[in-house]
Amino acid sequence: MLIDKVISSEASSSEYVLDARDVLAGYGSKTILHELNLHIRPGEIYALLGANGAGKTTTLSLFLGFLAPQSGLVRVNGIDPFTRPTEARKNFAYIPENVALYEHLSARENVAYLLDLAGQHEDASTISNALAAAGLDSSAFDLRVGGFSKGMRQKVAIALALARKVPALLLDEPTSGLDPQATTEFNRLLGLLRQQGVAILMVTHDLLSAADIADRIGFLEAGRLVEEVAAQGQDRFDVRNLHRRYAGQAI
Ligand code: ATP
Repeated sequence: MLIDKVISSEASSSEYVLDARDVLAGYGSKTILHELNLHIRPGEIYALLGANGAGKTTTLSLFLGFLAPQSGLVRVNGIDPFTRPTEARKNFAYIPENVALYEHLSARENVAYLLDLAGQHEDASTISNALAAAGLDSSAFDLRVGGFSKGMRQKVAIALALARKVPALLLDEPTSGLDPQATTEFNRLLGLLRQQGVAILMVTHDLLSAADIADRIGFLEAGRLVEEVAAQGQDRFDVRNLHRRYAGQAI
């Protein structure tokens, strides 16, 4: 069992792109997250697992700047996302469970428009390259996204993240509803972002996908990060043990 307090004493905050330290957070007077310590380095994929109601979405909300911690510190690339949301948003991309795109625009137009909104103007070839790197078939670049599958929509969102070159990526249940092939393809894309040095926090119930791609898996139980397991060796994770751990907590 690796409790991340060990990590926090080993390294300074500047090493972490996504950093939550000693965070208490909740809604109104109700505290949901207790003493959350979560630190993610550049080029690291962290999967956060936990039963329904464990506090995964609340954790994401902190990094997204939707929620202020009751105490403790939350930083995205050194920026407080709650008090400085505009600057913080320049440092992360967020892919929700259901990617929201402009349905009447094509994949290429969506990326161009969303980049424009982020204050970044890119030429057509940069956008094509990003869509190609995200694995979207070139025949779909100029089709309206209204007819796209969930997997195709995620590719457009990944293309946007690639083009934005953000240091952090936040993902909410990215593989729910994807077939195994699309999940494998999605994980390949996350690997691509990891190679670019992006710090990735993925909230998921998909243990197999997490074991496939994550560098660390954290288990959240009733608002407490009770265990972290790091990938090791060629087998990376003992999936049976992880499953026992995960299914056990949900019973
Ligand atoms: P799931 O897997 O079902 O999405 P989760 O791990 O993401 O669950 P959260 O959505 O973070 O869990 O919820 C944690 C707790 O906070 C739950 O008890 C939930 O009822 C409560 N909660 C969530 N949002 C609010 C809110 N806006 N106001 C009050 N309580 C909330």
